[in-house]
Amino acid sequence: MIPPHGPAIKGIYLCSMPKYTSLSDIQRTLHEGETTCRALVEYYLSQIEQTRHLNAYVEVWAEEALEKAGELDTRFKENPDSVGRLFGAVISLKDNICYAGHQVTAASKILEGFTSLYSATAVERLLAEDAIIIGRTNCDQFGMGSSNENSVYGPVRNAADPERVSGGSSGGAAVSVQTDTCLAALGSDTGGSVRQPAAFCGIWGFKPTYGRISRHGLIAYGSSFDQIGVMANNPSDIAALLDVMQGPDEFDSTTIQCPMSNVQFPISNIRIGYFPEAIENEGLDAGVRSVTWRFIEQLRAAGHVVAPIAFDLLDFIIPTYYILTTAEASSNLARYDGIRYGRRSPRATNLEETYLLSRSEGFSEEVKRRILLGTFVLSSGYYDAYYNKAQRARALIRKKTLGVLSGFDFILMPVAPTTAWRFGEKSDDPVAMYLSDIYTVLANLAGIPALAVPAGHHPENDLPVGIQLMAAPWEDAKLLEFAQQALRLAD
Ligand code: GLN
Repeated sequence: MIPPHGPAIKGIYLCSMPKYTSLSDIQRTLHEGETTCRALVEYYLSQIEQTRHLNAYVEVWAEEALEKAGELDTRFKENPDSVGRLFGAVISLKDNICYAGHQVTAASKILEGFTSLYSATAVERLLAEDAIIIGRTNCDQFGMGSSNENSVYGPVRNAADPERVSGGSSGGAAVSVQTDTCLAALGSDTGGSVRQPAAFCGIWGFKPTYGRISRHGLIAYGSSFDQIGVMANNPSDIAALLDVMQGPDEFDSTTIQCPMSNVQFPISNIRIGYFPEAIENEGLDAGVRSVTWRFIEQLRAAGHVVAPIAFDLLDFIIPTYYILTTAEASSNLARYDGIRYGRRSPRATNLEETYLLSRSEGFSEEVKRRILLGTFVLSSGYYDAYYNKAQRARALIRKKTLGVLSGFDFILMPVAPTTAWRFGEKSDDPVAMYLSDIYTVLANLAGIPALAVPAGHHPENDLPVGIQLMAAPWEDAKLLEFAQQALRLAD
């Protein structure tokens, strides 16, 4: 019922299917001696070359990836059992995930030239299972944005229509998978930054339960919202990476032990709830709405129960999210002072100027807007009226969401109210940009896992449309398994 895996690209720029559709496909090919890791990396590097104009990568670690591939090929030849679980998995990293000895800038000027001293726990775990990292991808500065137009490296183009945005903030990550330059991409999702660009680019995007993957080594934006997420061509690759990266980490006290393999088979007669207010919302594009209804009908035809459920807090989602994340961001970004990390303004002649000029020159307008807003809502006169109230609203939103999930296996929503928009369409109107996050931020407010499914194309503009499924906390595996099964029905 759900379209078979593979990027939903119909543009003339690329082939419509990745060369290797899944990790298991790659591993089978490697085991049968039909290819080598080196040949795989060479293939991905040639894809990167052909799609440079889309601006998905800010740095490609070609030599290093080829060298690692060669080492793996040798080790595999000597002893096929010596390779890790991610043998053959070539992965891109969003430019806000640390990798020891490599630059990381969160697409900002303030971190220009900054090299990380350590790797994120998620990256360490991928490397320990023999994944190959191919490069770092473009994004909105510090993860702030929904279109990847807010990057010091310039915007990322969507391969489905290069005149349109890739989505954000992990736009480069989405395009890196969409254009088959890697098997999977790591992004970060504070309020939809993995799911929305995945939807705009016609691939799968997953935000795990808050606390599933360590945030150690992820450049902080809104710490109580941030999660590393995965983009791929199918849910089983996402599950494979998640399985490796997840679990407790001494460097992140919000991570806990909660195994992935808690799924009861088979998954049938699933109960899925949707909020009629969300689907009937006048801000939702008619074509996206029709894809959503079709998806619901397909689920029903497959024997699942899809039923409406009232949710009266939709209007509070965006204000709550933007008050709390800007508050957390203003605090997190205080560390960039021109002294400890990255770039210091050459114009500064004393300490105060060092702070002032380094921050003024180093942050983009959007980042400054959020620091100001966050500082305001945390200021002593307004703390209770805004920050405290938003905390209470968040608790209520979470409680109601978990209440819905006690009666349903999943909640279904569109990923975004529209398909990918044209460059510049929303850049002068931050509020319009913020409102476009209406469907994704709920999962981060509630800390629940959420998956963007490539559900088809818009009936008029033919661009990819994503549908989102969300589950109760820690039911990441059940959600991915359901998606995998639903996918199988298509074959
Ligand atoms: N668009 C949202 C924001 O700007 C989400 C960003 C994200 O998930 N990193 O806050």
